[in-house]
Amino acid sequence: MIIFLKQDLSLDKEKLFRQFLVDRRVEVIPIKRKEQLLLVVVGRFGELVRREVESHPSVAKILETDRPYKLASKSFKQQATKIHLDNGTVIGNKHIIFMAGPCAIETKEQIRGIASEVKSAGCQILRGGAFKPRTGPYDFQGLGKIALHFLKEAATEFEMAMITEIMDVRDIELIEKYTDIFQVGTRNMQNYPLLKELGKTRKPVLLKRGMWATYKELLLAAEYILLGGNEQVILCERGIRTYVPETRFTLDLNVVAYLKHETHLPVIVDPSHGTGRSNLVRAMSKAAIAAGADGLLIETHLDPRKSISDADQAISTVELKKLVKEVKRVAMAVDRK
Ligand code: PEP
Ligand code: MN
Repeated sequence: MIIFLKQDLSLDKEKLFRQFLVDRRVEVIPIKRKEQLLLVVVGRFGELVRREVESHPSVAKILETDRPYKLASKSFKQQATKIHLDNGTVIGNKHIIFMAGPCAIETKEQIRGIASEVKSAGCQILRGGAFKPRTGPYDFQGLGKIALHFLKEAATEFEMAMITEIMDVRDIELIEKYTDIFQVGTRNMQNYPLLKELGKTRKPVLLKRGMWATYKELLLAAEYILLGGNEQVILCERGIRTYVPETRFTLDLNVVAYLKHETHLPVIVDPSHGTGRSNLVRAMSKAAIAAGADGLLIETHLDPRKSISDADQAISTVELKKLVKEVKRVAMAVDRK
């Protein structure tokens, strides 16, 4: 349950109401939203207390939902969440968003060269990993801080926003100085300390679905960020583990349609990790947009075979241009732009 307090409530009245809840052993998590205080109830309480709360003079309204995630649910917010970036890009409106770039930032020249092509393909956001979550400790781990600088420089030169992955709570302050969007990778979807800290920032967070995660687990992970007061959460499907050996993961497009029914948050699809095969990326990009996704996250490289990481799934920038053109045609067909 969510309790909406009256907007003009004095601090004294608020304190009295909080004590009223304590007396009834009702535990709440407070969140401030545009001058209004919301109290999200932890656990359940009986009918009697419910009626007392509902009729309390300090309460504007209560919202009951049968969903375990509350702030992420459509019953809490009906209108789609729109995320506004500094370069004018809006995620979650009619326009399809293209985020593209290499898996990892390899050199200053590499990211600049890719950025120029990504921009001319019509993408709004440049991606690139500086801190890479690699399965083996001997694999390239990313260039770290210097790569953030290269990515920012390239994004700024070509008037794009940037997105990069965060793995460690201790890097928030550093990455926040550079990035427009934090990316939380599949392996960290349930890194709760990281999600809680990102909830305290005011930068958008793209939360990738764990490769094992149910829809409920994804939405509950998003709830951790929302509860911190950060309303700018973007959900991302990037493929799940199934029994299929022919593709790296199975891109689950059911989740796109499901999330569109269930939540007001924007949904992005990553067909690069979702297939692991560059020759499937264009087809699955079109399918994702037809299913209702708000945008795509795509790995691209000037010379895909030379990518230090994820070479098999990187598409060339020539292929990217073809992809954007074709996706835009699908977008028109489903009443998007
Ligand atoms: C990536 O985007 O390069 C990445 C590591 O993604 P994921 O977390 O989906 O594996
Ligand atoms: Mn990758």
